[in-house]
Amino acid sequence: MPHTKARRGYLSSTFTCLCPRCREGKLFKNPLKLTYKGNMEMNRVCTVCGQPTEIEVGFYYGTGYVSYALTVAMSVVTLLIFWMTVGLSAQDKRFFVWVGLNAALLIILQPWIMRLSRSIWISWFVKYDPEWETDLLPETTA
Ligand SMILES: [Zn+2]
Repeated sequence: MPHTKARRGYLSSTFTCLCPRCREGKLFKNPLKLTYKGNMEMNRVCTVCGQPTEIEVGFYYGTGYVSYALTVAMSVVTLLIFWMTVGLSAQDKRFFVWVGLNAALLIILQPWIMRLSRSIWISWFVKYDPEWETDLLPETTA
């Protein structure tokens, strides 16, 4: 089957919250906003290939672990950046400046982290199907 469109990679489709099966359809109904309202509304099925986004009831309960891991990883990165640019010392309160800045950053990024967590989570259960246009949807247990 020849494809005219360039195929998206795993990372770019996951980070932009696209359907893991076709890498074309959007998982979420609304564009990302800084307000919490409407950010987590998902399309029930992928608007492009029909892949259900909630594979079973409570499918996304496990995303708490993903967002926790993302939060920890981002905190490590901001600490390293802070350490290399501002520096850390036991003699002053620079560490607490980082704690405050990091907390503010994580709060601002929370809607994005929550969406990314779901996108990563579903990408572990739904495999990319290069022939999604012709293949039938696999049987789901939902
Ligand atoms: Zn799709």
